[in-house]
Amino acid sequence: MQNTVNRVELGTIVCRHCQAVIGTQDTEKVAFYYAACEKEDCRKKEQAAEGR
Ligand SMILES: [Zn+2]
Repeated sequence: MQNTVNRVELGTIVCRHCQAVIGTQDTEKVAFYYAACEKEDCRKKEQAAEGR
């Protein structure tokens, strides 16, 4: 009997500006999370979106 923990990372974190995959996250179902990646261009867009 194997005692392996099946941790499947179903959550994908995607940059909302350039669609780059930033990372993954353990979630119970398939989901996409949108954030801003570290590109300067995307950070500027993110700040512009927040600063309204
Ligand atoms: Zn980006």
